[in-house]
Amino acid sequence: MISLFPEPRASPAVSVSRVANATLPAGTPRERVRDYVSFSALSLYQRCSLRYFFRYVAQLPEESTSASLVFGKAVHRAIGHHFEELLAGNAPPELDTLLAEFNAGWDEAPADQITFPKTDTRDSLARLADRILTAFRDSDVSQPRGHILGIEEELRGPIIDGAPDLLARLDLLTKSEDTLSVTDFKTSKSAWSSDQATDSAEQLLLYAELVRQSFPDMPIRLEFIVFTKAKKVAIGRYTVPLNAARVTRTKRIAQRVWRAISAGHFVPSPTPMNCQGCPYRAACRQWSG
Ligand code: SF4
Repeated sequence: MISLFPEPRASPAVSVSRVANATLPAGTPRERVRDYVSFSALSLYQRCSLRYFFRYVAQLPEESTSASLVFGKAVHRAIGHHFEELLAGNAPPELDTLLAEFNAGWDEAPADQITFPKTDTRDSLARLADRILTAFRDSDVSQPRGHILGIEEELRGPIIDGAPDLLARLDLLTKSEDTLSVTDFKTSKSAWSSDQATDSAEQLLLYAELVRQSFPDMPIRLEFIVFTKAKKVAIGRYTVPLNAARVTRTKRIAQRVWRAISAGHFVPSPTPMNCQGCPYRAACRQWSG
């Protein structure tokens, strides 16, 4: 499962051997230099803090890019183009236009760095993109109710105590009657369960806090739209309850994660799910602790 709006790639700054020789001291994460922190960075730290270190502290160049990440980014570009046309007052773009956007997005990734799982090829993923974008155009997801206020809208603010501003990029922000809707698009190998939507809610709960800063008096609705990457694409819509206690808990967890980052706690968390597709496997093997 990947966000359709992934983080930009980190720029290279130091060599693998430099990291392996532990010449980079723990602490003083460069997230501070960026003066903001993103949900995906915090989430990456929770999955594998050493991978966070390689990306955000050492800023190593990625050794590879997973095809599913490139795929999600390219689908995002196509869907974003669709909503931009609606926002401009134009007719919904044709499927061919969306596929051209998908291909342009795909071609942004260095072809020799893309790693494919055994089950996928460039052609099979192009066909999958065709099915997803066809399903998208045919569904009511492509025609949001009310007005589109933002596409990839960037919001930032000091909502995590002791941490830099949280920077968020909202996939889609709409207003219908007196309610704001924040929608996040995902692709997933299989349909989500309601528990999975609940477990994934932290991202949207933090984003809601940022939206509330600009629209303090308006009700906010949060939802995930999940495209299932299958022969027959399904589109799931999952509403995330905006629960005050859950928001507080999420902010406290983010605060603790930031404290751990600031203290320089970085250790590998090797699991098949974490390491498969990790772009820093060589650096991890060389890392001497
Ligand atoms: S290879 Fe695995 S343990 Fe090592 S940094 Fe990547 S995800 Fe973490």
